[in-house]
Amino acid sequence: MYRNRTCGELRLANVDETVLLAGWVQRIRRMGGMTFIDLRDRYGITQLAFNQETDAALWEQANELGREYVIQVEGTVKERSSKNKNIPTGEIEIIVSCLHILNASETPPFTIEDETDGGDDLRMKYRYLDLRRNVVRKNLELRNQVAFETRSFLNERNFLEVETPVLINSTPEGARDFIVSSRMNPGQFYALPQSPQTFKQLLMVSGFDRYFQIVKCFRDEDLRADRQPEFTQIDCEMAFVSQEDILEVFEALTKYLFKKIKGLDIADFPRMSYADAMKYYGNDKPDTRFEMKFVELKDLTEGKEFVVFDSSEYVGAICAEGCAAYTRKQLDELTNFVKRPQIGAKGLVYVKCETDGTFKSSVDKFYSQDDLRKWAERCQAKPGDLLLLLSGEKEKTQKQLSELRLEMGSRLGLRDKDVYSYLWVVDFPLLEKDEELGRFFAKHHPFTSPKQEDIPLIDTAPEKVRANAYDMVINGVEVGGGSIRIYDNQLQQTMFRLLGFTPEKAQEQFGFLMDAFKYGAPPHGGIAFGLDRLVSLFAGLDSIRDCIAFPKNNSGRDMMIDAPSFIDQEQLDELGIQVCLKEDKAKK
Ligand code: ASP
Repeated sequence: MYRNRTCGELRLANVDETVLLAGWVQRIRRMGGMTFIDLRDRYGITQLAFNQETDAALWEQANELGREYVIQVEGTVKERSSKNKNIPTGEIEIIVSCLHILNASETPPFTIEDETDGGDDLRMKYRYLDLRRNVVRKNLELRNQVAFETRSFLNERNFLEVETPVLINSTPEGARDFIVSSRMNPGQFYALPQSPQTFKQLLMVSGFDRYFQIVKCFRDEDLRADRQPEFTQIDCEMAFVSQEDILEVFEALTKYLFKKIKGLDIADFPRMSYADAMKYYGNDKPDTRFEMKFVELKDLTEGKEFVVFDSSEYVGAICAEGCAAYTRKQLDELTNFVKRPQIGAKGLVYVKCETDGTFKSSVDKFYSQDDLRKWAERCQAKPGDLLLLLSGEKEKTQKQLSELRLEMGSRLGLRDKDVYSYLWVVDFPLLEKDEELGRFFAKHHPFTSPKQEDIPLIDTAPEKVRANAYDMVINGVEVGGGSIRIYDNQLQQTMFRLLGFTPEKAQEQFGFLMDAFKYGAPPHGGIAFGLDRLVSLFAGLDSIRDCIAFPKNNSGRDMMIDAPSFIDQEQLDELGIQVCLKEDKAKK
């Protein structure tokens, strides 16, 4: 037997018991004739004590250990003279009688402590060591708990977990696919699923009626803090349901998770239309932890010879409470912020609502005190507040103003990770026009059903058609999204036509689905939650990477196994694949 207790469980009640522990040496403290070792395992840390006077040989053996050695000890639990209130085992220590080294360790490249000296890249390269750290391990424990509770909730409600294939054809969800070779079918390729979308719909046709799967999905996209090339979804689908039924079930799941994971009773989810989300927040995933809603000022700014505003389609403002005292430097910082290429605004107009009731602005040359007062009134600004205005083409400016709003929210400390603000965003448009390409794309995906009452608009004003699609947004993060699906063969064909598919192309790519719709497809719909995002929210993490055991970096690399990598010519030959990189071509 290696151990009969863990390093996290011994307390004063165990005093005088003889115990066997095994774990890693976290820290060694030599204090004269006493040596203390913090022994760590998954469950916690227990202090081991070695006394030169009572057993010099053992004491010497302990002094020869190094950090991260794996050891086994036998000893007696004793009350500590100097207690450590910060850890649960801090009132006891083990007086060791026997020590075995199970394995030595080289000095690790960074300290395995909550506050480590290892940089990101180093910790990624030695992820297995990083995972020994408390903080990282806790995130994975939380992830396990979220997955477990989700299964338990859905199981209770008759959902069946069904596995769908990983080697499939491309599904058009909007991102690029990862491609997999097929030795037995030279020249042909599988794609890794961006989601199990079509399969879960087929399961509804098969009569499974309530499906879920905690499933890996793959998207070859540019990476950001909330994106990884492979990520996990809680993927769900239900038959014989309306949008209302789906929102009800998955709002209940979310409330259940908040209760189980965070101990919080959360209220019913408010709903906001996509149109309002854009109008007031410039964002289809508004962070509603704070107000600072957009106010449109175009009509109040016109005709005063300020060309910038006069020539703009949209003039919008936010009101930053209590910020009228911002210095030149602070205002410059904000101006530079909106002018960054990622945001792309040309400039920023401000109005300080001074405490004496006057106004001071960057456009005083054009606007009188009276004009500025009208703006302030519409924004419901009080003396001491600061108005920030952006102008330009409507959609672009709303996006820029949204970034500025979030920045101000952060600066003012209004985005507390321990405060949760959640909502459903509903009534998304069915289609999105790519102005450059001059064609429509599905806003959600091509299987999303238009709202019944908007179907007549499909041919006359496709951009006005709203979808039965919904997103769950928490603290400005889209944690889930889904839709009611088309289940009628004809309507699905119309949708493909709108999206620019020829009937042949639609048949080739999605014939199987449209065929299935000929054999009694029930009305159905579903949703998928980003498990990584959900866990990050619960854990208060800045990046989803921190709740993934072996994540990839921003260039999509696994730094530890150094993937992706080149493969042998022999393997390529067997697959009948010739690799010709752009640079090689250029050389030829
Ligand atoms: N398949 C969709 C997605 O991955 C979710 C859904 O419509 O159920 O975003």
